[in-house]
Amino acid sequence: MSSASPERIVVAGAGLAGLRTVEELRAAGYAGTVTLVGAEPRPPYDRPPLSKRLMLGEIDDTTLRDDLDTLDVELCLGQPATGLDDGVLRAGAAEHRFDRLVLATGATPVGLPGGGRQRFLRTMDDALALRALLRPGLRLAIVGAGWIGAELATAAAAGGCEVTVLEAAAAPLAAALGAELGALTAPWYHEAGVELRLGQQVASVEPGGLALAGGGWLPADEVVTAVGVRPEIGWLDGSGIAIDNGVAADEQLRTSLPGVFAVGDCMAFWSLRYQRRLRFEHWDVALRAPAVAAVNLLGGTDTYDPVPYFWSEQFGRMVQYIGFHGAAGRMLLRGDPAARQWSVCWLAGDLLVALLAVNSPRDLAQGRRIIQAATPVDAARLGDPQTPLRDAVTGQG
Ligand SMILES: Cc1cc2nc3c(=O)[nH]c(=O)nc-3n(C[C@H](O)[C@H](O)[C@H](O)COP(=O)(O)OP(=O)(O)OC[C@H]3O[C@@H](n4cnc5c(N)ncnc54)[C@H](O)[C@@H]3O)c2cc1C
Repeated sequence: MSSASPERIVVAGAGLAGLRTVEELRAAGYAGTVTLVGAEPRPPYDRPPLSKRLMLGEIDDTTLRDDLDTLDVELCLGQPATGLDDGVLRAGAAEHRFDRLVLATGATPVGLPGGGRQRFLRTMDDALALRALLRPGLRLAIVGAGWIGAELATAAAAGGCEVTVLEAAAAPLAAALGAELGALTAPWYHEAGVELRLGQQVASVEPGGLALAGGGWLPADEVVTAVGVRPEIGWLDGSGIAIDNGVAADEQLRTSLPGVFAVGDCMAFWSLRYQRRLRFEHWDVALRAPAVAAVNLLGGTDTYDPVPYFWSEQFGRMVQYIGFHGAAGRMLLRGDPAARQWSVCWLAGDLLVALLAVNSPRDLAQGRRIIQAATPVDAARLGDPQTPLRDAVTGQG
């Protein structure tokens, strides 16, 4: 085998990032063997609709493609990878020899203590089981007012459930957006008839309800824990691979082990743009990083250097976020957050570094171009919702 033309590529994890890796390898002309090893028995499916259209009953299946055979991929489903040795991926009793390996095992929800039944919303089976339970009057407790908690609350309230969302932080989405901005979404819960309890830590999930920190009790027929996910990488223990809040990858998506790459939710890549290691749980990363990985698996030297993008659909609103506000110095509101349509801009000096758009696809599209080009902007014009974002640009970056 020449180093530029591997004969056997194995992909661990059959979600979006795993499937996209196979697609991109074939698109790049790779003609060798490719094996896709997945823990779940289902072929690759899409997750974002699980908490949206599927939960609302508009669709029943989110399988990504029904013509997998055209990719000439060896599918090993229902086979969780359990370990990694030199040139061999182990999956229980099965062994998959590889010349190159791609890690795409995604992320897993974090659970709460306690002996009561807690449900999660990560897999298609989770979603179908949960949807079957939703009925008028069901007392549904959702722990966590993050993206998934908000989307599930939307669908459950529409289905007539009595929904209570408990959030330890002072505002919804506080971890993602900061409490000040997250607080602007709190009225959406009340509008939808969802009870939102902020600053309420849950001690444990018990039969019949939730034991609350501080001694309270919330009775519930069903509990869904939506307090976040962690990268699914425990199975790599002992492999010697470098871990740093996920499988550590460089800007070319190479891990510390020769011939081993990583993509998607399980991967923390070195961002040249932001000069730090970043791990996102964004569909866009799972969609696009595989194109870079595929080129580099075949001997190339492409760089993955995205402006991050994420969206959520909650309480009848399309919420989109572009950029990275980690280094932003100030936040600027564009429009009235009590209205249906508004945006928030984050600035670092005179640069727009991130934007949150609520029902404002035009702001999102224009903001994306400004952030990517790093052109200076005029803050006063940026804050005026009557001025198109692109007209706030003051110079060439
Ligand atoms: C309900 C829901 C709604 C979402 N909505 C949005 C949204 O609106 N916008 C957005 O940007 N993002 C959204 N996301 C996030 C987005 O879906 C993820 O970022 C994306 O699915 C990541 O793809 P992935 O392939 O890296 O990981 P995953 O989709 O998690 O796929 C990884 C696969 O690997 C498998 N696996 C795990 N361990 C092993 C193992 N040891 N061996 C083999 N296989 C293994 C898993 O079973 C899984 O099938 C949502 C996620 C969920 C759950």
